[in-house]
Amino acid sequence: MLRSVARAAITSTNVFSNADDHVMETFQSAPRAVRHDTRIVSMLAAAIALAVFLIDALTPLDIAIAVLYVVVVLLIASTGNRAATVTVAWGCVILTLIGFILSHDENVSGGALARCAVSLLAIGTTAILSLRIQATTTKTQEQLELLNLAHDAIVAHDMNERITFWNRGAEALYGYPAQEAIGQPIHRMTQSNSPVPHAQIRAELLRSGRWDGEITRVRHDGGEIVIASRAALLRDAKGVPCAVLATSNDITQRKRMEAELQRQRDALKRSEAFLLDAQRLSLTGSIATRLPAGTMWWSDEAYRIFDYPRDTTPSIEAILARAHPDDIAIVRGAHEAALEGACEIDVEHRLLLPDGSVKHVHFVAHRASSESDGDGDEYVGALMDVTETKLAQEALARSTAELAHVTRVTMLGELAASIAHEVTQPLAAIVTSGDAGLRWLNRAQPEIAEAQQSIAQMIRDAKRASEVIARIRAMARKRDSQPATLDVNEIAGETIELVRRELARHRVDVRTDLAMPPPTVRCDRVQLQQVLINLMMNAAQAMSGVDGPRVLRVATCESESDPGYTQIAVQDSGTGISEDNARRLFDAFFTTKAEGMGMGLSICRSIIEAHGGRIWAESPDEGGARLCFVLPANEGENDEH
Ligand code: ADP
Repeated sequence: MLRSVARAAITSTNVFSNADDHVMETFQSAPRAVRHDTRIVSMLAAAIALAVFLIDALTPLDIAIAVLYVVVVLLIASTGNRAATVTVAWGCVILTLIGFILSHDENVSGGALARCAVSLLAIGTTAILSLRIQATTTKTQEQLELLNLAHDAIVAHDMNERITFWNRGAEALYGYPAQEAIGQPIHRMTQSNSPVPHAQIRAELLRSGRWDGEITRVRHDGGEIVIASRAALLRDAKGVPCAVLATSNDITQRKRMEAELQRQRDALKRSEAFLLDAQRLSLTGSIATRLPAGTMWWSDEAYRIFDYPRDTTPSIEAILARAHPDDIAIVRGAHEAALEGACEIDVEHRLLLPDGSVKHVHFVAHRASSESDGDGDEYVGALMDVTETKLAQEALARSTAELAHVTRVTMLGELAASIAHEVTQPLAAIVTSGDAGLRWLNRAQPEIAEAQQSIAQMIRDAKRASEVIARIRAMARKRDSQPATLDVNEIAGETIELVRRELARHRVDVRTDLAMPPPTVRCDRVQLQQVLINLMMNAAQAMSGVDGPRVLRVATCESESDPGYTQIAVQDSGTGISEDNARRLFDAFFTTKAEGMGMGLSICRSIIEAHGGRIWAESPDEGGARLCFVLPANEGENDEH
């Protein structure tokens, strides 16, 4: 339909351009101009008709002057008024006959009759042809109106690319009125730009008769638009290409959205690649689980961590199959917690892979959607391969234990005098009791009861000595941490005894402020003692250079700052700790002593933190230093005895 209408448009354009170059413009222009033209043409036609009648009726010319009435008919026909054309044609016939009667008497020659008949025939033929052309023109105009109703821009141009038709859709799309566009070279006027060269489009049109594609054009107002254009080649009756008809619509907005979508898809691909890289580098996989259905999704890295081929269907069963036999309960527990709707999942467990290797993993997940979604809960989680970290942590713990042991042995060396005193004292007491016992037995009348008392005293002292030795041996022994519930008052007392000689050497006065009932903590006995010895020895050394009273206070209490923790404080009246040193006090190798190693406080901190506590230094108003630490309080019985 469109094609036939367009062909009509183009053919009619040609017809019009033969008759009148501006008929198309007239069609598109305002009706008032048409009325104005019609009046002039009618007046001209009337003048010609009058002139022809006067010459025909009043002059004795022997020529068919009435033939000129055809000019009158053509002029009226050109106004497009069908009724007027018919009326004028009949009028001209009547005028011809009147002119003939007036200019001839009864002796009419055969030639005059023939001239009259020729004139009438010419007028009749002209009128009929004009009416036919009018009918065709009316039909074409109606069809052109149809093209104007279309929303698409419909443009026709000749083979020189000059615009021959420009519908209202084209006016709206490009902003050029038809009067301005017609006759202009389409591509130059709209600054056409296409990824396909014009020559190629033309070649394709000539080859296949059609082309469609995207073209960028510039509107009258300078705005750039992208159009989807469908062009068809029209050929004349002889098959020679005569015009191109193109329908176009604006796809600028769609292209913009496509470009934006494309940009986002890039961006998305890039961030996906980043994520994959990040997952690979950080050994972190993603796991999404929909519950209760149990459908799962694993990222590439998750597959790598579980050591499953990519075509394995992710499932809790697959995870359980990889879980270390000793940790299956942990994995099951986490899954059950998720099934029960837990908000957060945070578990560490091991995997036992088919090659026998063990991996440590840390899995954290949170509930991302709720029941209201209608599809159950979705858990989104990260699975981190923490094997390296675990191994490093274990190695660090081993090194720390070694170091703690070495420093303990070193410390024992420093305490040699104290220890010797601790041991020799009960030994001397045993000797004294032995002597006494012998004396009681060697009497003429042996005093058995007294001798028994001396022997009991000897046993007590021997026990005391062996306890001291056992403690010293424990300190010297290399062993794993054995946390137990300890009475901190008792440990503090024992430690003070152990370093008493050292304190005495520095003329330090010891005062204790021990909480009652005795607080308990969960800690390794030897390590807790090591911490206390360290703090007391540091305190003694800090006071060795100061004049005035040298007081060491050891206090135990329930922590006020950390509820549920027991606090132990070792305070001295020594040099105190400068603000600068306070920051580095617990750093390894920080020492202000010529012979110092700088490991004491650093080891104290690792021991305390390994038992879930914390240690810090304070500068009391009265001077000196106060080293405090807290350990989780343990309500249980002292389980050492
Ligand atoms: P070292 O005793 O080998 O120097 P430490 O780690 O035990 O190693 O102590 C580090 C430093 O902290 C000491 O050199 C000292 O400067 C400071 N320090 C520790 N305890 C006290 C204290 N009670 N008073 C003042 N300074 C202290």
